[in-house]
Amino acid sequence: MNFDLTPEQDQLRDAVRALGRRYGHSYFVEKAKAGEHTTELWDEAGRLGYLGVNVPAEYGGGGGGLTELAIVCEELAAAGCPLLLLVVSPAIAATVINRHGTEEQRKRFLPGFADGSLKVVFAITEPEAGSNFHRLGTVARRDGDDWLLSGRKCYISGVDEAQYVLVVARTEDATTGKLKPALFVVPTDAAGLTRSKLDMEIVSPENQFLLYLDDVRLPADALVGGSLDAGLPALFAGLNPERITVAAMGVGTGRYAIERAADYTATRKVWGGRSIGAHQGVAHPLAHAAVQVELARLMIHKAATLYDAGRDLEAGVAGNMAKYAAGEAAALAVDTAVQALGGAGMTTEYGVATLLGAVRAGRIAPVSREMILNFVAQHVLGQEKSY
Ligand SMILES: Cc1cc2nc3c(=O)[nH]c(=O)nc-3n(C[C@H](O)[C@H](O)[C@H](O)COP(=O)(O)OP(=O)(O)OC[C@H]3O[C@@H](n4cnc5c(N)ncnc54)[C@H](O)[C@@H]3O)c2cc1C
Repeated sequence: MNFDLTPEQDQLRDAVRALGRRYGHSYFVEKAKAGEHTTELWDEAGRLGYLGVNVPAEYGGGGGGLTELAIVCEELAAAGCPLLLLVVSPAIAATVINRHGTEEQRKRFLPGFADGSLKVVFAITEPEAGSNFHRLGTVARRDGDDWLLSGRKCYISGVDEAQYVLVVARTEDATTGKLKPALFVVPTDAAGLTRSKLDMEIVSPENQFLLYLDDVRLPADALVGGSLDAGLPALFAGLNPERITVAAMGVGTGRYAIERAADYTATRKVWGGRSIGAHQGVAHPLAHAAVQVELARLMIHKAATLYDAGRDLEAGVAGNMAKYAAGEAAALAVDTAVQALGGAGMTTEYGVATLLGAVRAGRIAPVSREMILNFVAQHVLGQEKSY
């Protein structure tokens, strides 16, 4: 058992931390409030190779694994810049194309993921289906060599920033009633694809959208893997990276909030000479949150290590547990930090309450805490499925 990062991973952590701190949470919030994107940070991270750490070297990437990508997600979040698009583009979309795309798709897309110039977002959620992806209603029909996609998606992050959206559809001839998913790389400016922005109570430069697909015509090579049989494995390939990187973002956010609060409580004095952090009613909740964050961090490390070793099934269990633990720990850490900061906790200046919406969403998306508990109950504890 080894809890140490390699020297290269340590260097990556230090370098990403330094980059994140140069931008910081005030940059993130200013962009969000101005309705702008964190383009400068994204582009610089891309130029420095941080967005492509998990892309194979032969396509221009860093040749690392999910451990490296989780480091990038965690450290940017720990600097106050939790970038959700890291989860959808390099983690989900790049992994799906790398593992299940055709060689032509790999050559076409992976170099753009490697330097961050390509953003591909991910659309699975639908209004009618919600957590039950077996009910997906977006349909892909053959029309000669082309495909026609129709349906609706909701809460899709970052469509306004991306060149493509990876759409999960079902094929029409699925007569068994079982889901036969297929993944398509759809240009965000494709004819028949329209979007409307959702108003969300989250302070973030990244937006969520409703997507409408009205007979969106796609060439045959838009189908990931070039075959309908590639659909299910491709869909599953994205799950572990999604859970592990979103967990890393949660842990980074928790670290950021606790650090802000601890700096404050160590120096703020309202009862004579002692800092408010000397009062256990203030310090213990922060210490408790720090323990929860560190436990989640350990689980992320385990999950990413298993994934990078090719042990996908075990990584699935650990990744779900890590996502659950990190979601809970991040929400606890931010709430506790706000309380420890008192009134300052609610100000924009101290930059903690600005994360309340994001960490609350982290208990719902991309997979809710209840669906993870269902997974653990069934697959770890052997319980009967109730739904
Ligand atoms: C900020 C944000 C960004 C997002 N980005 C994306 C994106 O980029 N792409 C994308 O495809 N989707 C995205 N989503 C959607 C997200 O994945 C879904 O919101 C999530 O999967 C839950 O689905 P739902 O909202 O339809 O909830 P529902 O399925 O309607 O569930 C509602 C509640 O019921 C619970 N529940 C449902 N079924 C069960 C059950 N069997 N047992 C116990 N409890 C149950 C859920 O846990 C939840 O608490 C995003 C969501 C948010 C909030």
